[in-house]
Amino acid sequence: MDAADHAAPGYNNGNRAFIQSFMARGTLTLREAKPILAAIFSVESDSLVEPADVTQEDLESYISAAADAVSPLDYDIRTTQHQVTKERVWAFVNSISDPLTQMATIRTTEETFYIKRFLDAMFITYNTRRREVMAINSMQALEAKIRKAGKETAAEEGTQSQAPDKGVTAEQAETLLKSLAEEGWISRSRENYYTLTPRALLELKSWLFATYNDDEIEEPVDPNEPDGPKREKWQPIKQCKACREIITIGQRCADLACTVRLHDICEAGFWASRKGVKKCPECSTAWDGKHYVGQKAVTTTEEYLKGKRRSGVSKKRPAEPSDSEEEEVEAETSTMGSRRTRTRRASSSSDSEEDE
Ligand SMILES: [Zn+2]
Ligand SMILES: [Zn+2]
Repeated sequence: MDAADHAAPGYNNGNRAFIQSFMARGTLTLREAKPILAAIFSVESDSLVEPADVTQEDLESYISAAADAVSPLDYDIRTTQHQVTKERVWAFVNSISDPLTQMATIRTTEETFYIKRFLDAMFITYNTRRREVMAINSMQALEAKIRKAGKETAAEEGTQSQAPDKGVTAEQAETLLKSLAEEGWISRSRENYYTLTPRALLELKSWLFATYNDDEIEEPVDPNEPDGPKREKWQPIKQCKACREIITIGQRCADLACTVRLHDICEAGFWASRKGVKKCPECSTAWDGKHYVGQKAVTTTEEYLKGKRRSGVSKKRPAEPSDSEEEEVEAETSTMGSRRTRTRRASSSSDSEEDE
């Protein structure tokens, strides 16, 4: 691309180098931008500028010049905070094309359909009023129903006389997920849950609302009384009450009917602005901070913790590197087996202490 044609006065090689480096990554944080800008400043001033000398203001001025240069090319630069680390992230977003194209341009048709089913699973199947996971684990991502087209989809394709969607193999799905992670669209947690990254949320924001939410924003409090009192409707894509950004990881009101959600990173400021009274601003239910949005909606449940003890998911922890095989055999067995596992693991951990 040649952004120079649209450039503002004063736009120079440093700005060009910055855009190239930014576009190659797709996203940028201040931490990542510091060495890039330090190198540019060093060349421009012909003296060594250290990354530590680069400020947020420096970055913002380069981002604003870059945004002006790329907007005629239908690109926006948008920014958000990482939902967990709070780090500010800037991303290039194509402002007109179908956002799925951004994730899918270099993919096969089958891979593109897989990505759509992967997102459907994340925001429909595993995102219910009771359990707003909005993440899918690595096993779910490889299930046949996500890898292969459903019957209706296949029929639909057929009538349009397109090539039928043959789906992807487990191996292809794994390779694709790996490359989506490398390109910064999805990230995989230690517990093996995939979530959308800030980059994907910035790119897909309007698409997610349009695809998964209803236009109807209210629902009757009592389903048997459609004309009775109304309340805000539960919708698959939700916003944080404090920052109004999409929330896929954070906290929810303890009342399942209530739609108030808060990012963990927004919580402290939100309560401070309400004199520390931790009550839901909509329904006044006490806010216990123990009702979750995201993988914790699963990983904090008793059934998950029990399953984890049985199946030895914790073998991934570096502290217990050699236990895996035995634990997997015992995973087949019942409560008795689980008790055995725990006993054995307790003894194995004391063994390793002796080794040290
Ligand atoms: Zn927030
Ligand atoms: Zn509430």
